[in-house]
Amino acid sequence: MVEKRDILSLSLEEIQQAVQEWGQPHYRAQQILQWLHRGVKSFDDMTDLPKALRELLAERFYIVKLQMLDKRTSSAGDATKYLFLLQDRNIIESVVMRYKYGNSLCLSTQVGCRMGCKFCASTIGGLVRNLSAGEMLAQVIEVNDDLEKVGERRVGNVVLMGIGEPLDNYDNTVKFIKMIHYPMGLNMSYRRITLSTCGLVPRMMDLAEEGLPITLSISLHAPNDELRKLIMPVASAYSIDDILKASRYYFKKTGRRVTFEYALISDLNDREKDAIELARRLKGFPCHVNIIPLNNVRGLAYKRSSQAAVERFVSVLKSQGIAVTKRRELGLDIEGACGQLRRSYLERVEARQDER
Ligand code: SF4
Repeated sequence: MVEKRDILSLSLEEIQQAVQEWGQPHYRAQQILQWLHRGVKSFDDMTDLPKALRELLAERFYIVKLQMLDKRTSSAGDATKYLFLLQDRNIIESVVMRYKYGNSLCLSTQVGCRMGCKFCASTIGGLVRNLSAGEMLAQVIEVNDDLEKVGERRVGNVVLMGIGEPLDNYDNTVKFIKMIHYPMGLNMSYRRITLSTCGLVPRMMDLAEEGLPITLSISLHAPNDELRKLIMPVASAYSIDDILKASRYYFKKTGRRVTFEYALISDLNDREKDAIELARRLKGFPCHVNIIPLNNVRGLAYKRSSQAAVERFVSVLKSQGIAVTKRRELGLDIEGACGQLRRSYLERVEARQDER
């Protein structure tokens, strides 16, 4: 028996190839893709396809399904976090963040993460596996379905900043980005997509070569390599100078201003001298700094900076002419930080198993 393939992970060209092999006209691939990206769950529901083609599809392919295990909305209503069960029983999370300009979906690209950032819940337990392009797409589809049920706007922006390092799952991530841009599918403009990386320099260069005008957001979190190595093991592989060089190349290739994320950690990277050093390194480079007050994560040592330290840091950067914003905090009461809800869920399951 032929093993069934995940059709949601296929590009338009790959679907075209399959239907052509079956002697079907070219336009069938577009019809199939349209159904899939609209969220159809069964080939039988693709009502404008001939029955024989639907049967062939069902014989050869399956449609990835995510099961919603939990859904929590913050008390302010500005964020909703979804916990999804994958078909192999792994768990991921996605978060909808509601802004005036629309709904952003922060989605996962891996189950777990091997990057080991010391302030992050997603990496406790390491990397389990990469997500397929279809599993990333399924997060957008499921959340769109859920938002539509309650009459809310569909996802307008996608942020690859959930569980996982997107560039550590390069091929699937780039495939997914191209897939959500299809005009006959979700038709998402590249400018509405942000990819966040901890700074995998060779992959940043590859991404620049793709020439996709998406926003590249780099988790910097320190003004120098010594400090960065304390909180991000990746800093031992790639220096801040390497990252800045790759960022300049990205800007040159795509024309997109790079964002640097900086999570302020109390008494570690939030001092005035850190802000001055950061400003010195970034001066003259068309970039943007996004200041994030750290979410306290149970079991992790680092604590968030005081409000006064945050204000001081921002004002030093501004005074040095650096474009800086403070990220609005959403979903603090729903374990909003990346990987936190999944972590709590896994801990609850482990605790139940210990009781038995
Ligand atoms: S911050 Fe991102 S790259 Fe670092 S461990 Fe967490 S998920 Fe991985």
